[in-house]
Amino acid sequence: MFSNFKPTWMVDAIYKITPEQLQTHGIKAVLTDLDNTLIAWNNPEGTIELQQWLLTLKKAGIPVIVVSNNNEERVRYAVERFDIDFVARALKPLGKGIREGVRRLNLSKDEVVMVGDQIMTDVRAANRVGVRSILVKPIIDTDSWKTQFNRLCERQIMRYLQKKNPEMVWQGEIT
Ligand SMILES: [Mg+2]
Repeated sequence: MFSNFKPTWMVDAIYKITPEQLQTHGIKAVLTDLDNTLIAWNNPEGTIELQQWLLTLKKAGIPVIVVSNNNEERVRYAVERFDIDFVARALKPLGKGIREGVRRLNLSKDEVVMVGDQIMTDVRAANRVGVRSILVKPIIDTDSWKTQFNRLCERQIMRYLQKKNPEMVWQGEIT
């Protein structure tokens, strides 16, 4: 039960993922959620760590594509300062956006990873497509009721999954 929500890895924050770690697992590109994974609503610039991380991946030749359920206008505005590609209206937990990201990269599914802060959308969508996933801790909790409700459900599913899979613990890197 709930294995569809099980992430491949659990890492404290997106900027802890290094090109070396990715290359070890044959990963050549990163798909990522936007809100609370890459940036917080109250800090659209992103943290210094995030900006440095994007630069490090760029130098390593690892493309990053944002895959977000938000609309085109909102996502474009959010990512244009980072100079990265994006897929809007991704319809996570459906696989549409992730499939589109993989197609644009012209890579196979096992050469791509999906990073996100929600198991019910980001991880579920990745598992549906057969792409490995990295769950990260949300940067900041939003005030929206919908998000609060989702987090409540997520906490319960996580509790269940972690009980069944003791190896599911937060780590500083993907191993
Ligand atoms: Mg998110």
